[in-house]
Amino acid sequence: MSDTEHLDLQSVLDDIYAAVEPRRGEGKVADYIPQLARIDPKSFGMAIVTVNGKVFSVGDAAVPFSIQSISKVFTLTLALGKHGERLWKRVGREPSGSAFNSIVQLEHEGGKPRNPFINAGAITISDLILAGHTPREVIGEILRFMRMLADDEDISIDPQVAKSEAATGFRNAALANFMRSFGKLDHPVEHVLGVYFHHCAIAMTCVQLARAGLFLANNGQQPGTGHSIVSRQRARRINALMLTCGHYDGSGDFAYHVGLPGKSGVGGGIMAVAPGKAAVAVWSPGLNENGNSQLGSVALEMLANRTGWSVFGA
Ligand code: GLN
Repeated sequence: MSDTEHLDLQSVLDDIYAAVEPRRGEGKVADYIPQLARIDPKSFGMAIVTVNGKVFSVGDAAVPFSIQSISKVFTLTLALGKHGERLWKRVGREPSGSAFNSIVQLEHEGGKPRNPFINAGAITISDLILAGHTPREVIGEILRFMRMLADDEDISIDPQVAKSEAATGFRNAALANFMRSFGKLDHPVEHVLGVYFHHCAIAMTCVQLARAGLFLANNGQQPGTGHSIVSRQRARRINALMLTCGHYDGSGDFAYHVGLPGKSGVGGGIMAVAPGKAAVAVWSPGLNENGNSQLGSVALEMLANRTGWSVFGA
């Protein structure tokens, strides 16, 4: 029995929901991807899935939203499975200290992105997953992986969001072309971006996302099935990367306030991992100045305070 049993997690979620209620709509919904700007800014959902298999949820926890950069945790997991530690020849493991879509540091570092969670890094990861496959195969593989992890076939890619990203993704196209100019991409830019835009456009609910992240809270194993998704060491390392880089140049602030490995997306979602205890997903579309969900971060801070789950101590 894990030490989540003594907590009344449903009342914790209910209290968080009541506390954020008057603040719903805070922050700024991402509008550089036009399809994301159409989302109701007042949406709010949150779900906790414990390693004992209990599920708690509140608000819009069953409404699918665009997971965006949260997908980068899962593409990194797949790429590590294919390439192992050699992957780190292509991508660094240091916080970038700049915006998620920044290009500046790439020039100084020969086209090698700082970490797998900034856009440049995730585009490189898409390039790595493409090895020996067509974009269509790889997109299918990523989607199947998400369905398997969440144990839910009802997960899909939102074609409107993927199209919207492709139509307006000038910055991502610049990043990919820039890296290609350094000889750092093995596949055509259009193929790499096709994979990247599609995995960012996966739509999932908070409950599905928390289920999908549970292996990271459970030493790499899926508690329900007992399947080993990654080794214990790899789960620990992915968590370390989420803690240091998962919120871009807001990662320090997130560690300070929440203290959990977590990954945000511009759709307003955050997936967080409480090792040995639970995986959590929260969704609120309004973003703070670093492009991370404003109320989502507030909600996770309240959760960490109430549960004592911060990895830095209760
Ligand atoms: N698809 C988004 C982009 O490329 C992902 C960014 C994010 O979620 N931070 O800009």
